[in-house]
This record gives sequence, C-alpha cells and structure tokens, in this order.
Amino acid sequence: MIENLDFIKANIDIIEVLSNYLPLKKNGINYSCCCPFHTEKSGSFIVSPKKQLYHCFGCGAGGDTIKFLMEYKKLEFNEAILEIARLLNLPVVEKTYNYDKRKDYLNALEEYSTKAQENLQKQENQKIKQWLFNRGLEEEDLSFFEIGLAPSFYKQDKTLIELGVLFEPKGKDCGSLFANRILFPLRNAQHKIVGFSGRTHPYFNFKNTAKYINSKESKIFNKSQILYNLSRSKSAIIEQKAIIITEGFMDAIALYKMGFKNAVATCGTAFNATHLSQILRLREEVEIKFCFDKDEAGVNATLRAIRLLYSNGIFNAKVLEPLNACKDIGEILEKKETLDFKEMAIFEYYCDFFKRHLKTPKEKDNFINELKKIIADCENFYQKEELIQSASLIFELPKDFWIKKAIANPLSTKGLLELQLFKSVLNNPDCAYIAGHYLDGSEFEFLGADFKAFIINKDLTTKSRALMLDSSILEIDFSNFKNCLRAFLKDFYQRKLQTAKAKKDLSQILYLSNKINELGS
Ligand code: ZN
Repeated sequence: MIENLDFIKANIDIIEVLSNYLPLKKNGINYSCCCPFHTEKSGSFIVSPKKQLYHCFGCGAGGDTIKFLMEYKKLEFNEAILEIARLLNLPVVEKTYNYDKRKDYLNALEEYSTKAQENLQKQENQKIKQWLFNRGLEEEDLSFFEIGLAPSFYKQDKTLIELGVLFEPKGKDCGSLFANRILFPLRNAQHKIVGFSGRTHPYFNFKNTAKYINSKESKIFNKSQILYNLSRSKSAIIEQKAIIITEGFMDAIALYKMGFKNAVATCGTAFNATHLSQILRLREEVEIKFCFDKDEAGVNATLRAIRLLYSNGIFNAKVLEPLNACKDIGEILEKKETLDFKEMAIFEYYCDFFKRHLKTPKEKDNFINELKKIIADCENFYQKEELIQSASLIFELPKDFWIKKAIANPLSTKGLLELQLFKSVLNNPDCAYIAGHYLDGSEFEFLGADFKAFIINKDLTTKSRALMLDSSILEIDFSNFKNCLRAFLKDFYQRKLQTAKAKKDLSQILYLSNKINELGS
C-alpha cells in the first residue's frame, strides 16, 4: 500500500509524465502527438494540462495520467503510482518491493561497469587498449565514456542474473553474456546505467558471434528507448539548440571527440517516437539533425525518421552527410581526418530522394499527394511558405498547386449549441448545477447518455472527454449560460411540438405550447 497516495495524485503533471513516452508538441493550450494506441499519421491524441486528461479523437482512448500508464505500460494501479512518483521525484511513503528492486538493478549494473573498467586497465589487457587507441580513442575517452572489458567470470549476483548480464553459476562464479567483450555502458537520460553493449575485438576467439550484442530487454532496459550519450550531451544540445542523431554509439563517441558535443545515438534501432519525446522534453527549441550511414539501410532509416517528424508536426530538421570518403564516422576518426558535412533540409532531402528513385506515374502521383498532405499539415505560416517554395522549385510546379482548399465546418448550429452547452456543464460546476436542475438528458440529440452519466455519477464518457479537450468547441460564459439553456430547451420543445402536431396529439400540443410560452422569447 502507498500511504501518501493523495499527495502523489495531487502532484501529478500529465505533461511531465506523458512526455517521457510520447513526443508531445504544444498545440495552443493543449499538447498533441500521434496516438500510441492505434496506428495513425495525423496526431489525434490530445493531452490537456488544464484538465489533466488525454483523449484520442481517432480511437477514443482516454483518461488521466494513471490510466495512461496502466494502458500504455500495462501496469497495475500501484505500479503506475510508483512510476509517476519516480518520474516526478515525489516521495513514496511505504516503499514496495518493485521500487527497491529498481535501485538494486541500477547499483548492480553500476558495479559491474566499474569492475569492467578496472579489468581493461590491467597489464595483461594493454593490447586491447592499444587496439582501441588505433581506432582513434585516447586514454581519457576510456574513462569519460566508461569503456571497459567484461571479465570472463564474475561473482554470483542474483540481480545481474535476473537482468541476463550473468548466467546461472557453474561452480563458484558466473559466466557473462558479455564475457571478454569491450563493454560500453548505456546510460538513460537520467544518467543511470540501464544496460550494456559489448563489442568483439581481435584478441579473443568470439566464434562467429555478432560484432555487437546488447543487454536483454528487462524491467529497466528497453533498447529502443535509449539515446546513447544524451545525459552527457544535454547541456551542449541546449546551448547549440541542435542535436545530431547517429545510428551507432561509436559514431556518437567519434563525433563527440571531433568537437560535436551534441551528438547522440539510437543504438541500432530506428529513430522512434520515444526518442523524439526525449528530445522534445528538453523543452527548448532544438533542431534535429540526422547523420545516418550512407548505405541503403541508413538512407531508409533517414526517410523513416523524416516521416516520423512530419507526423509529429516537425518540419525544420536537417540531414547531415559527411563529405569525407569514408563508410562511417568511426572511420573518419580512425584516419584522423577533418570531418566536413553537407547540410540539407529534410524536405529537400525527402523530395530529392523520391525525385531520383520514383519511376512509375502511379508512384510519382502517390508521392506528390503525400507532399501535399505534409504541406497541408504544417501549421506554421512561415514554414509552410518555405515548404511550398521548395516544392515548387524542386518539381517545377506553380505555388498554388500545393495549397489545399479549406473545408467548411460540417456542424449544424443546432448541434453546435448542444456541444457548447454540454462543454460548459463539464467545465463549470455552476453550469452543471443549473443544467442538472432543468434537464434530464432526454433533451439532447446526441449527448443525452453522456450528460446523464456526468450529472448523476460524475462519469466522464469517451465523448465527454473528447468534448472537454476539443478546442474548436467554445465554452459558454456563465453569464450567458441561462439564455443559451433557454434557447436550447425551446428548440427541444419546438421539435417535440412538431411531432405532436403530426400525430394530432392535442394534450401534448397544449402542454408543449405552454412550455414554450413559459420560456419567453
Ligand atoms: Zn488512438
């Protein structure tokens, strides 16, 4: 049991918590991104800091911060609370097993890393060190990046066995997943070691295993969430207002050494929404620059990353291409060359790639439509102008070819009043009190059940939540609420009166006419 549950609940900041997992972008008073609960490209997922709620206009998922963690991370209620406390640095009274366990994990990994670093410094491992130096690293890099050599055997440690770093003991000591490999600790954004990557070297027979292996996925390690070097490069990123994203951590280390202290790496996974969220939550305007390998895989990774940015409303990123004739950045460091970059706006890179690779008219047509959609989605006036300008230049098409006509609001005025009225009820207790007194839900054309659920049980249905967070529907000011309520009721009685007249139901006609008169004009 968590004793100070109310305290934790009262201190929840939904933006602070959700931005650990989602690339939230400020959008008026709310934040938005693509929905993590269904596949989409448009950003229907809205988070309201004011209401402390999220809602997806695409699939209807929604709720508060606790519900989000329970659904997104598949946590139990208590686990969700502990996660929130951890993310927001809130004290937890009566710690539970899981909370302590996390500390154990981190400590064990930290200790293993220290032992590996000591191991690399031993006399008998000088040749391995020398091999690293030949690749362009220096002594000071070994300690700065905490590079080690995983020992062949390690003392028994239940926690490390649980994390898959060590194997079950045979005899006194344990073998290791990383045994004899060069060991790179992977630290998360909070600068905690959560896993390792191990690399082969020529001084041990690794018997046809992969060049790099990573820690197994565990409660604390998720490879796709790590941006290698982020915790060290944070201040440089903020200072330079730019971040360079590479594919492998050796690239990030090499760039760092060559003076690009704002370089991070995705550790061999595609650049994804969790990576992006970690960059956006620096809460500074940071320009993203991708610097992936020049081979086919690298180009595809770049295109995918660009699409991810577009679907999250980011249009002003860059692609960096080293001009040196080397296969990757590590090689540039090794040869001690001076690194020279060609910088391209992602939009130009994207257009240029497809212009050179698309063959059939169908492919070309699809791509042009995709570009039109990207331009239409861009909300910033100046950026939109730039996109239109580039697209027109690259494809030699007139500027108005790219501009989509606005669609009229499909809502009728009558439906709109119902929405506005109910939104005021949801947001203002005084309005709710009055509406509860005059209405029973049957007056509503669309939202009767939702109204009842709210008035009787304070229940927020999916539709109610959507309405609360829909910034296109305005709330009615309390001073005007009674007038609107009167208009709404009058409209309702008038509709019923028409039915009664059609049925020639005289008593109903009299009753309703009276009601309408009571409401005045
Ligand atoms: Zn959704």
